[in-house]
Amino acid sequence: MEASANYQQVTTRNLQQWALSAASQFHNFPFKASNSWIAKFKKQHKIKQQEITKYVSAKETATIDEILAAADIFRKQTMKLIPNFHKDFIININQTECQYQSTCDRALYMQEAKAIFVQRQRINRICHSYTAQYAITMSGKLLPRVFICLQEATGMFDPKIRKAVDEFAKIYTNVVITSSKSGKLITYLYTEFLKEMLAPYVRQGKFLLLIDSWDGQTNPALYDKIFLDDDGIGTCTIKVIPSKCTSLCQPCDVYFYRQVKNLIKRLQNCSFLIEQKREITSREDCIKIHAIVHHQLSAPIFENMLRYAWFASKLTDKREIFMNVNEVCFPLDILKQPCNCKNATFIRCARCRANYCFACFYDKYHPTMCIISSASTNE
Ligand SMILES: [Zn+2]
Ligand SMILES: [Zn+2]
Repeated sequence: MEASANYQQVTTRNLQQWALSAASQFHNFPFKASNSWIAKFKKQHKIKQQEITKYVSAKETATIDEILAAADIFRKQTMKLIPNFHKDFIININQTECQYQSTCDRALYMQEAKAIFVQRQRINRICHSYTAQYAITMSGKLLPRVFICLQEATGMFDPKIRKAVDEFAKIYTNVVITSSKSGKLITYLYTEFLKEMLAPYVRQGKFLLLIDSWDGQTNPALYDKIFLDDDGIGTCTIKVIPSKCTSLCQPCDVYFYRQVKNLIKRLQNCSFLIEQKREITSREDCIKIHAIVHHQLSAPIFENMLRYAWFASKLTDKREIFMNVNEVCFPLDILKQPCNCKNATFIRCARCRANYCFACFYDKYHPTMCIISSASTNE
């Protein structure tokens, strides 16, 4: 539903892969998303094939068995490497596409309704997307900053916007803001990311980097130039996740980004905004949203959840008991406990654990007031 709401094509193969990745979180659960299973699933949910003439890439034609085999090999090789590194220095970085406005009413699109027009103040924003890149460690931490790449017509911020963005950067200090024509990362920007965000974190330490096979980032020379110790020895070991199995063994994909997207959706579709007929879809909002998401998800209370992403990817056998975003930030009992200002609570902060209404949390930008966060700022 989410993919079709975002105008992405959904194939039977997609459905099988999503089912596989959902099932892969459960160890010892022999599930193969077989053809008979998918046929039953489609029937049950009234999903019908539409006529599409589309070029099918090599990735998609891989059989389920090939995908599982590739994932197994990747895991085996990676788990051999893991003991050589400190868990703070085993890092998975990955980019994810985000929408300026996520579609909250998507459940209504199903079945009967042939065409539904939802009134949006900035209709053109719906299709616009941008990229966010987070980095998570096997120890359950986030790198100190998140990298975002906005879509700009010329690829660059025009001078007026540049000025505004520079101001935002002073407020939202945990976000590195860049732009490109497509809103996607390009090699040049990825190199910036390595220099600005990864290098200050790893310094001269040896580290293991798990990345997917996007060709803007797989050239080893890229890393050899940036990550060197005093003797000129490279400090970075790269392990590339085969393209067909990122949804099975890439920690960011398997669990982490679903939590990021959930938190974003909660912010964008909160009832307070709907009542006020307000939307948070500006350039500043999208930067602010990631500043908040990063502030919340890097809270110590989420370390077990991040470690679980590695378990769910089957890169470790250690299973952590954890609470996810819904349990930490949006437990049901917050409804009975209003914000200090007497308004209804929207969220319980993952760091200071106090309840806040949307205005106190988002509009007043809570991270600058969150007592625990200011004590543990990284830089
Ligand atoms: Zn309040
Ligand atoms: Zn707080």
